[in-house]
Amino acid sequence: MPFHLTDEQEVIRQSVRELAERELKPMAAILDREHRPPLENIETLAEMGIMGMILPSQYGGSDADHLSYTIAVEEVSRVCATTGVMLAVHLGLACSIINTMGTEEQKQHYLPDMASGKAIGGFCLTEPGAGSDAAALSTAAEEDGSDYLITGQKIFITNAGFAKVFIVMARTTNGISAFIVERDMPGLTISEPEHKMGIRGSSTCTLFFDKVRVPKSNMLGEEGSGFKVAMKGLAGGRIRIAAQALGIAQGAYEEGVKYAKERVQFGKPIAALQAIQWMVADMATDIEAGRLLVYQAADMEDRGLEYTEAASMAKLYCGPMATRVTHTALQIHGGNGYIEGFPIERMYRDARITEIYEGTSEIQRLVIARAILR
Ligand SMILES: Cc1cc2nc3c(=O)[nH]c(=O)nc-3n(C[C@H](O)[C@H](O)[C@H](O)COP(=O)(O)OP(=O)(O)OC[C@H]3O[C@@H](n4cnc5c(N)ncnc54)[C@H](O)[C@@H]3O)c2cc1C
Repeated sequence: MPFHLTDEQEVIRQSVRELAERELKPMAAILDREHRPPLENIETLAEMGIMGMILPSQYGGSDADHLSYTIAVEEVSRVCATTGVMLAVHLGLACSIINTMGTEEQKQHYLPDMASGKAIGGFCLTEPGAGSDAAALSTAAEEDGSDYLITGQKIFITNAGFAKVFIVMARTTNGISAFIVERDMPGLTISEPEHKMGIRGSSTCTLFFDKVRVPKSNMLGEEGSGFKVAMKGLAGGRIRIAAQALGIAQGAYEEGVKYAKERVQFGKPIAALQAIQWMVADMATDIEAGRLLVYQAADMEDRGLEYTEAASMAKLYCGPMATRVTHTALQIHGGNGYIEGFPIERMYRDARITEIYEGTSEIQRLVIARAILR
């Protein structure tokens, strides 16, 4: 491991890896095949204190640093990318935004249940007409006495099938504002989950808002500061999606190496063939490069440095890296790689989304170039 981790961070990696191998790995193919939300895994992670690990202990968290959390997302995603993205969005976006932007009352009201995994969080920015161009969103929040009435539609919302708390960006008089919306607030309906290529248990739904009445006290930050809230949340979120990609790649690489040692052709394991050895060397190098970018971005976040550009670089590298590595590891499996039952088939499908959500690779390039040319 080239990046210097503290003893505590190493212990966290080891314990999350053991838990993931024991509890999450056996469920991964089932969640994928049945498009089943990772509810049992949430309980397992909550018991270990992972669902709220970076939150302050006064709200039920463990005061862990962001690098430790990033490693946890990596280790979970190494065996189950569905559970990895659930954790990335719940804690890295929803909980973190409430923790950094929320009032004391909001934190006390929402975070303890979120930290214990009783209330899962979602993040609602994307709309049919506003994807990469998120500022074009048209969901509106209209003042009505001591409340706002939210009307509009949010698509592709991760965790939406089971989440209880949503951070919702909506247009108000002075720009875009962020609100905490609860699942059972009247006027909110949630579609059935989309049928997806990968991360099939992550429950991606459309939210329909029909004059959803939200108390003014549920606004996060100042009126009109919602776009900033979303962008700041996404900067950190991108480190965790990069970590998800890294974990998927690591898992796929290990499957590829294992298969190469076991599969015999031409009288010897295919690992003895130079063509396969070069694949293994390329995968290992690609993963290590990605890991350095991810850990560096998380470390900068922990040290209070400006990390937006580093987060985008980590995501821009690791998304395509996960696609390359899963592609190569599948190639090592030959025909078996194309057959359901070998985990590589699922990992190959799971990897692709990491180049798309929380900002496509093209949008990461925009963020990086803007920071350089500013
Ligand atoms: C499984 C899944 C889960 C998701 N989870 C969430 C969630 O929890 N919350 C949420 O709010 N959203 C979520 N999303 C939405 C996701 O973040 C968007 O899909 C993504 O940001 C891209 O937006 P879009 O799909 O509208 O693509 P578009 O913006 O229509 O982009 C189409 C293509 O054009 C390119 N493009 C667009 N603009 C530019 C530009 N200026 N320069 C160069 N290229 C450009 C894009 O890179 C892409 O290749 C999720 C999506 C998926 C598929």
